[in-house]
Amino acid sequence: METLIERLSAVRERIAAAARRANRDPAAIRLVGVTKAQPVEAIRAALAAGLHEIGENRVQEAEAKMSALAADRRRLTLHLIGHLQTNKAKKAATLFDMVHSVDSLRLAQILDRHAAETTDRLPVLLQVNVSGEMTKSGFDLCHWETLPDVYDRFCADVEQILALPHLEVRGLMTIAPWGPDPEQARPVFRAARRLRDSLALRFPATAWRDLSMGMTDDFEVAIEEGATIVRIGRAIFGER
Ligand SMILES: *Cc1c(COP(=O)(O)O)cnc(C)c1O
Repeated sequence: METLIERLSAVRERIAAAARRANRDPAAIRLVGVTKAQPVEAIRAALAAGLHEIGENRVQEAEAKMSALAADRRRLTLHLIGHLQTNKAKKAATLFDMVHSVDSLRLAQILDRHAAETTDRLPVLLQVNVSGEMTKSGFDLCHWETLPDVYDRFCADVEQILALPHLEVRGLMTIAPWGPDPEQARPVFRAARRLRDSLALRFPATAWRDLSMGMTDDFEVAIEEGATIVRIGRAIFGER
Protein backbone atom coordinates (compact mmCIF):
# COMPACT_ATOMS: atom_id res chain seq x y z
CA MET A 1 0.00 0.00 0.00
CA GLU A 2 1.26 3.41 -0.94
CA THR A 3 1.34 5.98 1.81
CA LEU A 4 -0.38 9.32 1.63
CA ILE A 5 3.01 10.99 1.32
CA GLU A 6 3.83 8.85 -1.71
CA ARG A 7 0.48 9.47 -3.37
CA LEU A 8 0.73 13.19 -2.68
CA SER A 9 4.19 13.46 -4.14
CA ALA A 10 3.12 11.47 -7.22
CA VAL A 11 0.22 13.90 -7.70
CA ARG A 12 2.52 16.89 -7.29
CA GLU A 13 4.88 15.44 -9.89
CA ARG A 14 2.02 14.93 -12.33
CA ILE A 15 0.88 18.51 -11.73
CA ALA A 16 4.38 19.80 -12.43
CA ALA A 17 4.73 17.68 -15.58
CA ALA A 18 1.38 18.89 -16.93
CA ALA A 19 2.36 22.49 -16.20
CA ARG A 20 5.66 22.08 -18.04
CA ARG A 21 3.88 20.58 -21.05
CA ALA A 22 1.83 23.76 -21.21
CA ASN A 23 4.83 26.05 -20.61
CA ARG A 24 3.37 27.06 -17.28
CA ASP A 25 5.03 27.57 -13.91
CA PRO A 26 4.09 24.59 -11.69
CA ALA A 27 4.15 26.95 -8.69
CA ALA A 28 1.18 28.82 -10.19
CA ILE A 29 -1.10 25.82 -9.64
CA ARG A 30 -2.69 25.34 -6.23
CA LEU A 31 -3.52 21.86 -5.09
CA VAL A 32 -6.65 21.48 -2.97
CA GLY A 33 -6.89 18.07 -1.30
CA VAL A 34 -10.54 16.96 -1.26
CA THR A 35 -11.33 15.16 2.00
CA LYS A 36 -15.11 14.78 1.65
CA ALA A 37 -16.27 11.42 3.02
CA GLN A 38 -12.83 10.92 4.56
CA PRO A 39 -12.26 10.93 8.32
CA VAL A 40 -10.66 13.80 10.22
CA GLU A 41 -7.46 11.73 10.32
CA ALA A 42 -7.12 12.24 6.57
CA ILE A 43 -6.90 16.00 7.12
CA ARG A 44 -4.38 15.54 9.92
CA ALA A 45 -2.29 13.30 7.66
CA ALA A 46 -2.50 15.86 4.84
CA LEU A 47 -1.27 18.58 7.17
CA ALA A 48 1.58 16.38 8.35
CA ALA A 49 2.52 15.78 4.70
CA GLY A 50 2.56 19.50 3.98
CA LEU A 51 -0.81 19.83 2.24
CA HIS A 52 -2.64 22.74 3.88
CA GLU A 53 -5.38 23.42 1.33
CA ILE A 54 -8.41 21.26 2.00
CA GLY A 55 -11.68 21.00 0.08
CA GLU A 56 -14.99 19.84 1.51
CA ASN A 57 -18.33 19.68 -0.27
CA ARG A 58 -20.76 19.83 2.66
CA VAL A 59 -21.06 22.55 5.25
CA GLN A 60 -22.11 20.29 8.11
CA GLU A 61 -19.41 17.71 7.49
CA ALA A 62 -16.77 20.43 7.28
CA GLU A 63 -18.06 22.06 10.45
CA ALA A 64 -17.80 18.81 12.41
CA LYS A 65 -14.29 18.18 11.12
CA MET A 66 -13.15 21.71 11.92
CA SER A 67 -14.36 21.49 15.48
CA ALA A 68 -12.33 18.28 15.86
CA LEU A 69 -9.36 20.10 14.35
CA ALA A 70 -9.71 23.38 16.23
CA ALA A 71 -6.04 23.47 17.21
CA ASP A 72 -4.97 23.07 13.56
CA ARG A 73 -7.58 25.35 12.00
CA ARG A 74 -5.21 28.27 11.44
CA ARG A 75 -2.82 26.08 9.48
CA LEU A 76 -5.57 25.09 7.05
CA THR A 77 -7.09 26.88 4.11
CA LEU A 78 -10.59 25.49 3.79
CA HIS A 79 -12.38 25.49 0.43
CA LEU A 80 -16.09 24.84 -0.08
CA ILE A 81 -16.40 22.99 -3.39
CA GLY A 82 -19.95 21.58 -3.21
CA HIS A 83 -23.33 23.15 -3.87
CA LEU A 84 -24.31 25.59 -1.14
CA GLN A 85 -27.93 25.93 -0.05
CA THR A 86 -28.89 29.46 0.89
CA ASN A 87 -29.95 28.37 4.39
CA LYS A 88 -26.36 27.28 5.02
CA ALA A 89 -24.76 30.44 3.63
CA LYS A 90 -24.34 32.04 7.03
CA LYS A 91 -22.39 29.10 8.40
CA ALA A 92 -20.39 28.80 5.19
CA ALA A 93 -19.37 32.47 5.26
CA THR A 94 -17.78 32.06 8.66
CA LEU A 95 -16.36 28.55 8.19
CA PHE A 96 -14.67 28.63 4.78
CA ASP A 97 -11.72 30.60 3.48
CA MET A 98 -12.94 30.36 -0.10
CA VAL A 99 -16.23 29.34 -1.70
CA HIS A 100 -15.89 27.78 -5.19
CA SER A 101 -19.57 27.11 -5.68
CA VAL A 102 -21.36 30.45 -6.02
CA ASP A 103 -23.94 29.43 -8.59
CA SER A 104 -26.63 32.13 -8.48
CA LEU A 105 -27.00 35.85 -7.94
CA ARG A 106 -29.29 35.17 -4.99
CA LEU A 107 -26.71 32.96 -3.25
CA ALA A 108 -24.05 35.61 -3.85
CA GLN A 109 -26.27 38.28 -2.28
CA ILE A 110 -26.99 36.15 0.78
CA LEU A 111 -23.33 35.18 1.20
CA ASP A 112 -22.36 38.84 0.93
CA ARG A 113 -24.74 39.77 3.72
CA HIS A 114 -23.28 37.13 6.01
CA ALA A 115 -19.67 37.81 4.99
CA ALA A 116 -20.25 41.36 6.19
CA GLU A 117 -20.38 39.97 9.73
CA THR A 118 -16.84 38.63 9.45
CA THR A 119 -13.99 41.07 8.98
CA ASP A 120 -12.59 40.40 5.49
CA ARG A 121 -14.05 40.05 2.07
CA LEU A 122 -14.83 36.44 1.33
CA PRO A 123 -12.96 35.06 -1.71
CA VAL A 124 -15.36 33.32 -4.09
CA LEU A 125 -15.45 31.68 -7.49
CA LEU A 126 -18.47 31.60 -9.77
CA GLN A 127 -19.37 28.04 -10.66
CA VAL A 128 -20.24 27.71 -14.33
CA ASN A 129 -21.82 24.85 -16.21
CA VAL A 130 -20.41 25.02 -19.73
CA SER A 131 -21.11 21.41 -20.65
CA GLY A 132 -24.89 21.46 -20.35
CA GLU A 133 -24.89 18.35 -18.19
CA MET A 134 -28.16 18.64 -16.27
CA THR A 135 -26.88 17.14 -13.04
CA LYS A 136 -24.21 19.80 -12.59
CA SER A 137 -25.03 22.97 -10.75
CA GLY A 138 -23.58 26.28 -11.75
CA PHE A 139 -24.65 29.25 -13.84
CA ASP A 140 -25.97 27.84 -17.09
CA LEU A 141 -23.44 28.78 -19.76
CA CYS A 142 -23.96 25.94 -22.15
CA HIS A 143 -23.14 27.17 -25.70
CA TRP A 144 -22.40 30.65 -24.36
CA GLU A 145 -20.11 31.36 -27.31
CA THR A 146 -22.88 30.96 -29.85
CA LEU A 147 -25.81 32.17 -27.74
CA PRO A 148 -25.38 35.88 -26.95
CA ASP A 149 -28.47 35.86 -24.71
CA VAL A 150 -26.92 33.22 -22.45
CA TYR A 151 -23.73 35.23 -22.12
CA ASP A 152 -25.49 38.58 -21.65
CA ARG A 153 -27.77 37.19 -18.95
CA PHE A 154 -24.75 35.86 -17.08
CA CYS A 155 -22.93 39.17 -17.45
CA ALA A 156 -25.89 41.02 -15.96
CA ASP A 157 -25.64 38.76 -12.89
CA VAL A 158 -21.86 39.11 -12.78
CA GLU A 159 -22.13 42.88 -12.81
CA GLN A 160 -24.33 42.76 -9.72
CA ILE A 161 -22.12 40.21 -7.97
CA LEU A 162 -18.99 42.29 -8.57
CA ALA A 163 -20.72 45.22 -6.90
CA LEU A 164 -21.26 43.27 -3.66
CA PRO A 165 -18.93 44.81 -1.08
CA HIS A 166 -18.10 41.73 0.98
CA LEU A 167 -17.30 39.22 -1.75
CA GLU A 168 -14.06 39.10 -3.66
CA VAL A 169 -14.62 37.36 -6.98
CA ARG A 170 -11.41 35.60 -7.96
CA GLY A 171 -12.51 33.64 -11.02
CA LEU A 172 -14.49 30.63 -12.17
CA MET A 173 -14.97 27.02 -11.13
CA THR A 174 -16.24 24.22 -13.32
CA ILE A 175 -16.73 20.45 -13.21
CA ALA A 176 -16.38 18.41 -16.39
CA PRO A 177 -18.82 15.57 -17.03
CA TRP A 178 -17.38 12.22 -16.09
CA GLY A 179 -16.12 10.12 -18.99
CA PRO A 180 -13.72 7.25 -19.50
CA ASP A 181 -11.30 9.43 -21.46
CA PRO A 182 -9.99 12.65 -19.85
CA GLU A 183 -9.62 14.14 -23.33
CA GLN A 184 -13.41 14.42 -23.36
CA ALA A 185 -13.09 17.06 -20.66
CA ARG A 186 -10.74 19.23 -22.70
CA PRO A 187 -13.39 21.20 -24.62
CA VAL A 188 -15.24 21.86 -21.35
CA PHE A 189 -12.12 23.24 -19.67
CA ARG A 190 -11.29 25.23 -22.78
CA ALA A 191 -14.76 26.78 -22.82
CA ALA A 192 -14.40 27.76 -19.16
CA ARG A 193 -11.06 29.35 -19.84
CA ARG A 194 -12.39 31.30 -22.81
CA LEU A 195 -15.29 32.46 -20.68
CA ARG A 196 -12.85 33.66 -18.03
CA ASP A 197 -10.82 35.52 -20.68
CA SER A 198 -13.97 37.09 -22.02
CA LEU A 199 -15.09 38.23 -18.55
CA ALA A 200 -11.65 39.70 -17.94
CA LEU A 201 -12.14 41.94 -20.98
CA ARG A 202 -15.69 42.89 -20.07
CA PHE A 203 -14.97 43.50 -16.34
CA PRO A 204 -11.33 44.61 -16.27
CA ALA A 205 -11.43 45.94 -12.71
CA THR A 206 -11.58 42.33 -11.49
CA ALA A 207 -8.49 40.12 -11.82
CA TRP A 208 -10.30 36.86 -12.83
CA ARG A 209 -7.09 35.08 -11.93
CA ASP A 210 -8.42 31.72 -10.84
CA LEU A 211 -9.80 28.78 -12.76
CA SER A 212 -10.71 25.95 -10.40
CA MET A 213 -11.00 22.87 -12.58
CA GLY A 214 -9.64 19.35 -12.69
CA MET A 215 -10.17 16.36 -10.37
CA THR A 216 -8.51 12.94 -10.04
CA ASP A 217 -9.55 11.75 -13.49
CA ASP A 218 -8.87 14.88 -15.50
CA PHE A 219 -6.57 17.30 -13.66
CA GLU A 220 -3.69 17.06 -16.12
CA VAL A 221 -5.92 18.09 -19.02
CA ALA A 222 -7.33 20.90 -16.85
CA ILE A 223 -3.82 22.20 -16.15
CA GLU A 224 -2.95 22.10 -19.85
CA GLU A 225 -6.07 24.22 -20.42
CA GLY A 226 -5.21 26.80 -17.76
CA ALA A 227 -6.41 25.56 -14.36
CA THR A 228 -4.89 27.53 -11.47
CA ILE A 229 -6.56 25.39 -8.78
CA VAL A 230 -7.05 21.63 -9.01
CA ARG A 231 -9.33 19.78 -6.57
CA ILE A 232 -8.08 16.25 -6.02
CA GLY A 233 -9.53 13.62 -3.71
CA ARG A 234 -9.11 9.95 -4.63
CA ALA A 235 -5.62 10.19 -6.13
CA ILE A 236 -4.38 11.47 -2.74
CA PHE A 237 -6.67 9.96 -0.11
CA GLY A 238 -7.80 6.78 -1.87
CA GLU A 239 -11.28 5.65 -2.85
CA ARG A 240 -14.19 6.95 -0.82
C1 LIG B 1 -15.38 15.12 -4.98
C2 LIG B 1 -15.02 16.35 -5.70
C3 LIG B 1 -13.71 16.56 -6.17
C4 LIG B 1 -12.60 15.54 -6.04
O1 LIG B 1 -12.91 14.41 -6.81
P1 LIG B 1 -11.86 13.20 -7.00
O2 LIG B 1 -12.37 12.53 -8.20
O3 LIG B 1 -11.91 12.40 -5.76
O4 LIG B 1 -10.52 13.81 -7.22
C5 LIG B 1 -13.43 17.76 -6.80
N1 LIG B 1 -14.37 18.70 -6.96
C6 LIG B 1 -15.64 18.55 -6.54
C7 LIG B 1 -16.61 19.63 -6.76
C8 LIG B 1 -15.99 17.37 -5.89
O5 LIG B 1 -17.26 17.22 -5.47
